[in-house]
Amino acid sequence: MTELAYLADEASAYTREFTATVVALPPGGVVLDRTYFYPVGGGQQADHGTLGRPGEPRYSVVDVTKSGSSAVHRLRKPPGPAPPVLQVGQEVAGSLDWERRHRHMRLHTGQHLLSALVFQRTGVRTREATMSGSSGIVDLEGPLPPGLPVDVLAEATNALLREDRRVSIRHVSRQEWEQHPTARSGLVPLPRHVDPVRIIDIEGIDACPCGGTHVRATGEVGAVALDPPVPLSLGAVRLPFRLSDGASPSRPG
Ligand SMILES: [Zn+2]
Repeated sequence: MTELAYLADEASAYTREFTATVVALPPGGVVLDRTYFYPVGGGQQADHGTLGRPGEPRYSVVDVTKSGSSAVHRLRKPPGPAPPVLQVGQEVAGSLDWERRHRHMRLHTGQHLLSALVFQRTGVRTREATMSGSSGIVDLEGPLPPGLPVDVLAEATNALLREDRRVSIRHVSRQEWEQHPTARSGLVPLPRHVDPVRIIDIEGIDACPCGGTHVRATGEVGAVALDPPVPLSLGAVRLPFRLSDGASPSRPG
């Protein structure tokens, strides 16, 4: 089992360097007792970075996947001196590719806000969202009404981002979450075993269960741009969005 240490609180998502112990070496992978590398899932891509013995050449982490209750880090030998072979019980040091991770945090927070805004203004819910590179897609259960063209939605989203609203994490009981007014705003039901529920709050705007990584305040997302919606089958609509500024306003923890 791997402790997913990035889940704990707002600051945990900003940890870039950590040490952990190797607990298993499945074929082609390494399992640690704890990790700050995000395993691919929930529409968010896996973290990349490096992993190895402290003070020695390190492996590149090229993918991280969940396998049961473990996170499996897929490693590749980098060019140059070969890193020493890892063994169970050894301490290792991990380092995240922060530019990549922080982009995912910005995209993911922007997606929450965009989905919340669409739901509040139209009642249209988000079925699924995925993010990669500097862009993402939000699949809505229905079309945007004519009264909410995509440029108006983009401006409303960016206005809320500029307000720099606090983004916080809390863990509540399943029972408490079921009473929350936005508990039905998403189509995908939470699996029955999820209790307590990890809620991402955007101050005054949204509360949403999520296991991803997010920035601390909406201003850190920067600006987003929306592309024209793409019709999907059965009346659903795909809303593409992207980070529209090149700069990454990182706030290291
Ligand atoms: Zn999220």
